Amino acid sequence: MVGAGVGGLAVTILLSRRGHNVKLMERFVEPRPIGSGLLLQPAGLVALERLGLREVITALGHRIDRLHGLTDTGRTIFDLHYGGLGATTHGVAVHRAALHAVLWETFRQTNVPFLAGREVRSAADPMLADADLIVDASGARSMLREFVTDRPPRPFPYGAVWATVPDAGIGPATLAQRYAGAKVMLGYLPAGRMAVGQAPMAALFWSLRNDRYEAWRGGFDAWREEARTLWPALAPVLAGLTGPDEFTHATYQHFSTYRPWRDRLVLIGDSAHATSPQLGQGANQALIDAVVLTDALAAAPDLKTAFERYAHARRAHVRFYQQASWAMTRFFQSDSATLPWIRDLVFDPMRRIPWLHREMLRTLAGLKTGPFRTATPDEIVNRLANP
Ligand SMILES: Cc1cc2nc3c(=O)[nH]c(=O)nc-3n(C[C@H](O)[C@H](O)[C@H](O)COP(=O)(O)OP(=O)(O)OC[C@H]3O[C@@H](n4cnc5c(N)ncnc54)[C@H](O)[C@@H]3O)c2cc1C
Repeated sequence: MVGAGVGGLAVTILLSRRGHNVKLMERFVEPRPIGSGLLLQPAGLVALERLGLREVITALGHRIDRLHGLTDTGRTIFDLHYGGLGATTHGVAVHRAALHAVLWETFRQTNVPFLAGREVRSAADPMLADADLIVDASGARSMLREFVTDRPPRPFPYGAVWATVPDAGIGPATLAQRYAGAKVMLGYLPAGRMAVGQAPMAALFWSLRNDRYEAWRGGFDAWREEARTLWPALAPVLAGLTGPDEFTHATYQHFSTYRPWRDRLVLIGDSAHATSPQLGQGANQALIDAVVLTDALAAAPDLKTAFERYAHARRAHVRFYQQASWAMTRFFQSDSATLPWIRDLVFDPMRRIPWLHREMLRTLAGLKTGPFRTATPDEIVNRLANP
């Protein structure tokens, strides 16, 4: 296994439980999560259930029932409630470090060897020579995926800066965002606790053109004022920030491949399908990939068949969210003046058409497998279980 992130830890845990002889390689000496909060969707929670970790993550996280987005002029862009899909449907926001810590602790109990400080740069790396199976879970900047396809990833011009802040109780159970055109986006996601008994935290994020990062750092106080004007209720949170070093700069890439495997190498998570986190699906997809790949390996007579079944089982869900994320990102993070104008006119009124409203909710909840197709979380995650 290459990469001790969300997908790598999950697949290692699952395969070791099935009795496979696994080694996990990670480029960092201490595996560490980068970033702030992330939103787990219903299918991601079912994948965590397969790992036996749903309860502990739900206890640490913050239940999310609503996506609420307003423009700087107060126009509603999104007001979507998961509850429209059924009273039990919801997301769970969790601090990335809390999710990682829970996966890491579970991994430690497997006694799988952890090879730290090993950067795997190629599928022909001598470190992998004796492996029957190589799972590349090394994330959006995988160096192994070029063995599978020569299609290069495409960088997005916009990324974001993220900070973890004490949760000020602004909009409980809500992923809230403010927009001004497509150049400005400020978001607030209550993300629960790092550990039981600790104070609740939230993720604060600000969309940023990557070439403006240094200017943003240099003009931090001016930015704070801009953010306060855009969202006055965030003033106490913004006042508590000491400077730009509290933020992590995240840049995004888009990458998809029809066939995420070759020979004994298979890609999962961001290595197989990276995109911007506009639809908040990436960690969910990595967890689902881990479960589906493990199920495929359990039932197939050989690696090729297992990889084909894994790729086939994941294709429609992954493809929909890759395409939707790519399309949506330009409405929220780009230099376009036209797209946000269309967004401001069209997105909220779409909610009044019952069929479209339902489709928007299903998209948010990670349940789409095509423009006109939907699946339940169980169908998405457990497709290859008990074949
Ligand atoms: C700012 C931001 C916000 C996000 N918000 C959400 C959200 O709300 N909901 C959601 O579901 N997803 C979200 N995502 C996406 C999510 O974080 C990723 O999709 C998810 O972490 C992918 O998991 P992964 O296991 O594929 O890769 P990662 O978690 O990135 O793990 C990759 C691991 O591989 C290691 N590695 C890398 N290269 C090598 C190498 N050459 N050799 C050895 N090890 C290597 C890395 O150090 C890392 O430990 C967000 C992403 C970002 C950047």
